[in-house]
Amino acid sequence: MSEQVVENTNQRIVDAMNKWSIKFFSLLLPSGLGTKVTIKDVTDEGSKVLSMGIYSGKRSAQEESIPYDGSTYEGHAIKDESRDSLWLYEASPPNSFEPYEEGIFHVSLGHVFKCHTCRGQGRITCKTCGGKVRWTKYLSDGREKHYTCSCGDGKQDCSTCTGYGEMLKILSVKTRYTFDEKKYTEYSGKLPESLLIDSSGSKIFEHACEYRDRVISEAMDGFDSSKFSHLMTDAHSEIKSSVSSKATNKIFAPSIINNLIDKYFTELPNLATGNKRLSLESLPIRMKCEVTDVPVKDVTYEYKGKQYSLYVYGDKNDVWVDGKKPAKFTWKLAIVIGVLILTIGFIVFMQL
Ligand SMILES: [Zn+2]
Ligand SMILES: [Zn+2]
Repeated sequence: MSEQVVENTNQRIVDAMNKWSIKFFSLLLPSGLGTKVTIKDVTDEGSKVLSMGIYSGKRSAQEESIPYDGSTYEGHAIKDESRDSLWLYEASPPNSFEPYEEGIFHVSLGHVFKCHTCRGQGRITCKTCGGKVRWTKYLSDGREKHYTCSCGDGKQDCSTCTGYGEMLKILSVKTRYTFDEKKYTEYSGKLPESLLIDSSGSKIFEHACEYRDRVISEAMDGFDSSKFSHLMTDAHSEIKSSVSSKATNKIFAPSIINNLIDKYFTELPNLATGNKRLSLESLPIRMKCEVTDVPVKDVTYEYKGKQYSLYVYGDKNDVWVDGKKPAKFTWKLAIVIGVLILTIGFIVFMQL
């Protein structure tokens, strides 16, 4: 490393330690620690984080009966139950990786039948008057009171078929788009993986695969688990060839990234396993692969004649300590003790 680089790295570590040690709840940690220590050794342990995920659409359908008003359901009618797919209708996934829920829509199954409630009449006996329309009540003082029901003819519209007399069997279709992401790290040091996965760094590789048109046309013959496996084989090689074409800039070693990508595809569950035509149909729409370089520095430093170590990691220069850290009586502790004494003094004073 050149002297300039060493100086910049050390300045980053000093800043990180200052930011870390000023935190109020680290009561025993001397604040401004960065400027009070001597940095003895810095080892660069940089880590790579692979984020991979599938954006998929899940369509599920339920058979229901709805009042039939004579509509033709143009473009929304099942032609052949053994060949149709829920993805024949209104298939317009968003152009992003954002979760999204589409409005429910209906597809006609073509079966029209007489409403059971009203036997196809559309109207049933009025519930208010029981069909009497007019009736008389005799009051206790001998007077009569006459009533007339607002229904007029003793009937009301059937609530099942809303008066149409006929019902239609349909599929009520729900669609939900989700992004399912997994993260893997390439790192051999002591810093916990959970900290690395959540920290930011610089993106050194990204690739997206678009499968929308392909999977929607494949859905017509039923998108099953073997179609999913084929698609993933293609995605796997597409991403790997993108890695090798972009790895020429020497920022990363393709072999490391390729190992992580292989791991992802090996562990990936088959999204289409539960697929059943016209009932549940999941489709992988697109994929995303990103590699982030997360800086990790293993730092050894000296404070008041003793040696300590810590890690500075991520773009935000967070600090993680495994083991001992300097401890002394600090102004932070003084404030806490001061506040405690005042509080106790106040309580005692109030009870006098
Ligand atoms: Zn009535
Ligand atoms: Zn009815």
